[in-house]
Amino acid sequence: MSNDTLFQEALTHFPGGVSSPVRAFRAVGGTPKFFRKAWGSRFEDEEGRRYVDLCMSWGPLILGHAVPEIISAAVEAMQEGLTFGAPSRRELALARRIKSMVPFLDKMRFVSSGTEAVMSALRAARGYTKRERILKFDGCYHGHSDAMLVKAGSGLVTFGEPSSAGVPRGFADLTTVISLDDLEALEATFDKLGHELAAAIIEPIPANNGLLVQDTTFLRRLRELCNAYGVVLIFDEVISGFRVAPGGAAELLGITPDLVTYGKIIGGGMPVGLYGGRKDIMAVISPDGPVYQAGTLSGNPVAMAAGLATLERLTPNVYRSLDQKGAQWAAAFEKMPGLHVPRVGSLLWPLFQPGVKRADRVESGAIARFNKMHGLLLKEGVYLPPSGYEVAFLSAAHGDEELAHVERAIGVVAAALKNED
Ligand SMILES: *Cc1c(COP(=O)(O)O)cnc(C)c1O
Repeated sequence: MSNDTLFQEALTHFPGGVSSPVRAFRAVGGTPKFFRKAWGSRFEDEEGRRYVDLCMSWGPLILGHAVPEIISAAVEAMQEGLTFGAPSRRELALARRIKSMVPFLDKMRFVSSGTEAVMSALRAARGYTKRERILKFDGCYHGHSDAMLVKAGSGLVTFGEPSSAGVPRGFADLTTVISLDDLEALEATFDKLGHELAAAIIEPIPANNGLLVQDTTFLRRLRELCNAYGVVLIFDEVISGFRVAPGGAAELLGITPDLVTYGKIIGGGMPVGLYGGRKDIMAVISPDGPVYQAGTLSGNPVAMAAGLATLERLTPNVYRSLDQKGAQWAAAFEKMPGLHVPRVGSLLWPLFQPGVKRADRVESGAIARFNKMHGLLLKEGVYLPPSGYEVAFLSAAHGDEELAHVERAIGVVAAALKNED
């Protein structure tokens, strides 16, 4: 059946025809593809067209699609029961593996999504500090909980404004939003509000508004200010965790947060999130402490098995090879005239503009050109995330053959873009 026909039906069931908004292709135009199967670094749509996948389900699939060892681990768990609603040994095995990769994680709790992990970490920070205000940074995404769907307010730095309808103003008032890469604003905010802040939350490698790689001095200063004012520093490593290094951005940058949130890779393609960190903070979580947080399917054995099978395969060699691939693939994309590709390991951001570190500096012309390139690359069998504000993901399964395919496609698309100019 054609993608168009499927999408027509999907529009009758789902808002925008999709289960998550960016999948609707509104940013780049055209109809979303419906996928029927995937393997390695490729997938095939319902029309039988095959693509080299550079979206990789938005990050979880660091080893590739349908990795046999991950699938058999999940199937083995499945055959013993899909869920118990009671403790099981697989939670311990995954926790042990995570601790071996992330040394600062004293205590943790599994949840079922990144959104839930962030929402729970914020509540833990508020319960621990007995303060209510949260600081976040423009251009970082932390899932869709009310406290995080907030943008900078006009004028006063103190109060944020809802960035989505349906978020009560009273919630947004408790979130302060400042720009990334702005030390002055950071100092001023702590000077004014430091004693009110329960938590400062940041993607240490911001990868949800393109890849806004920060100077380490900025992140170090944030760490110092949090220490000085007794503010819980939360690293949202839902993307960077287990991707940029075994210990994520915290390891790569040499900065330890108080709490951390994970998602995506730790579930190996199944829905898992996690928050955790310092044991004195995690002691506030129910049933040890007064902060309530629970989940019917939390620590689900099938998801734990898929997560463990993934993390067990993330050896130092895998990280070395992902980094080499990142360099090769970024260089391939940079053959496209005008395209720049900031990169951290296997995270790449193709943008027709150099040197962006703040969300408000992305030019609309650069995004418009990305949108054109996206459609043309898709025709050549290369699937980039359907928005210029999203990063591309490589996996261990992206090989030389796929690179050669993409290099050819880039040549074709570069010529087509040149003809249009
Ligand atoms: C994806 C993401 C989330 C939300 O995770 P979901 O599983 O989609 O709820 C939160 N924070 C960051 C940094 C993310 O990339």
